Amino acid sequence: MDDRTTPGLANQSSVRTAFRVLGPVILLVGLGFVVVGFVDFFGSMNSFQGPDKFWMLFVGLPVLFVGGALTQAGYAGTAARYVAGETMPVVKDSATYLSDGRGIAGIGRTEEAAAATGPYCRQCGTRNDADARFCDSCGQSLA
Ligand SMILES: [Zn+2]
Repeated sequence: MDDRTTPGLANQSSVRTAFRVLGPVILLVGLGFVVVGFVDFFGSMNSFQGPDKFWMLFVGLPVLFVGGALTQAGYAGTAARYVAGETMPVVKDSATYLSDGRGIAGIGRTEEAAAATGPYCRQCGTRNDADARFCDSCGQSLA
């Protein structure tokens, strides 16, 4: 039943992959044009002959821009996912710690705490079953 969303996601990721490959390639081509254009421009300053490859700068700069935009588009999602993946566990752990496992606004609530109705562990804050004598999480005596 989730087939509705899967092709879209797969398609999006293949577009991203294409951007990641195409972006740097276009970036390099653009860079090549700009470098040749610059070298030719400054190299021809002392000669009577004008810069005949100067036009490459005007081709290279837009190509460089397009390549940069593609690369950014290809890696933007990855960067966002990386940041989210790195920070969320920290936020979750902090919320769990600060709330003794009960969670803050639904974040960091441990499954044990959600199911248990007994005493909280003095050692680690995990809520245990009503008849528990030792903490489920750290083994501390609950008596
Ligand atoms: Zn404990």
